[in-house]
Amino acid sequence: MNKRFMLRPVKTELPSSGGCTDAPVLRERGQREVFCGLTGIIWMHRKIQDAFFLVVGSRTCAHLVQSAAGVMIFAEPRFATAIIDDRDLAGLADANDELDAVVTRLLERRPDIRMLFLVGSCPSEVIKLDLSRASERLSERFAPRVRVVNYSGSGIETTFTQGEDACLAALVPMLPSAIAQQAPELMVVGTLADVVEDQFNRLFGLLGVGPVVFLPARRSSELPCVGPNTRFILAQPFLGDTARALEARGAQRIAAPFPFGVEGTTLWLSAIAEAWGVDADHFEQTVTPARERASQALARQRERMQGKSVFFFPDSQLEIPLARFLSRELGMRLTEIGSPYLHRQHLAHELAMLPAGTQLSEGQDVERQLDRCRAIAPDLVVCGLGLANPLEQEGFATKWSIELVFSPIHGYDQAADLAELFERPMRRRALIAQQAA
Ligand code: SF4
Repeated sequence: MNKRFMLRPVKTELPSSGGCTDAPVLRERGQREVFCGLTGIIWMHRKIQDAFFLVVGSRTCAHLVQSAAGVMIFAEPRFATAIIDDRDLAGLADANDELDAVVTRLLERRPDIRMLFLVGSCPSEVIKLDLSRASERLSERFAPRVRVVNYSGSGIETTFTQGEDACLAALVPMLPSAIAQQAPELMVVGTLADVVEDQFNRLFGLLGVGPVVFLPARRSSELPCVGPNTRFILAQPFLGDTARALEARGAQRIAAPFPFGVEGTTLWLSAIAEAWGVDADHFEQTVTPARERASQALARQRERMQGKSVFFFPDSQLEIPLARFLSRELGMRLTEIGSPYLHRQHLAHELAMLPAGTQLSEGQDVERQLDRCRAIAPDLVVCGLGLANPLEQEGFATKWSIELVFSPIHGYDQAADLAELFERPMRRRALIAQQAA
């Protein structure tokens, strides 16, 4: 028989109904306990190696970024804050002139910078400093050596992962246009740890999927092209604006659950393989070794985590995919899953995979949510840093959700590490209880 007719392309069965697809969502609009979008600088400055993030903000903004990121004293930092002081706030100085002077000094001193992000903050928005005009003006002055891009990381209406979304969405208009006749290209969208990017790249190569590009790229000179032949897949669930901007440039999204855990990773890779017409047997042979290794590691953790209950406060926007992983692969019991925003389209498959009856909430009214959490008394609370210490004091085991954004957690090889991030606080709490007994 002709070998061509023996091909059996991958067909992904993505659940899109059932589970929590139509579950009622508790919508709350009260006091929130979240970090602002400046936080994204912490992981993005590590990723884009020739970029510099200049926050245009107050001393508070400088403290936030500095204390969260930390810098080795012998390293040249790749982020800083141009402080808006009382004279700027009182309108006594021209903030634009001062900003231009700071940028000029910075770029003279640091010839390694190829892309400069001007990052807006609450203070820059309050004094209505137009960073988009500033970035145009400075781009003209420093072209072609440096590109200047602006986005907002302010905490006025955001949660902390929206900083990455705003940053990547600001990059999309700068991506070169792909030639119409160009072969289809896969774009993986969302900051991934280099080690994870390399693992996925290896799998794509073995599967015969490609060419593959990543947004953000490691260097600003490697900005990927975009056009109607671009098929993109999100690696993070909080990139709604970036996805919209890519679609406006003709790129098509590959819908899939997110690559957390064995199941999520398999479905994510499988959706890509289907888009590239990869043979089903070849797909199985390629992913099976890594999938089996990860499944075995998770089986051991499942024994310890099964039946434990977990409550998510809204913080990172990773809550729904991670709850799906904890429930389906580790047997944990979901109580409430809070998310700052619920993007129904991007999370459609994730919602369908959650157990029916799970309480979903969107937005926050922190005192009411704390009351619900105390009443449920879960084994593990996933929340922001501001809530973690008081809850620990009350005897809860907590996981800082921000750690889940900093750590490599995507893909097969990280599935057990991801489970470990949730298990460790419960183990520690059990030890404390033992010692106290
Ligand atoms: S951007 Fe706003 S919320 Fe963030 S550190 Fe600055 S002042 Fe605070």
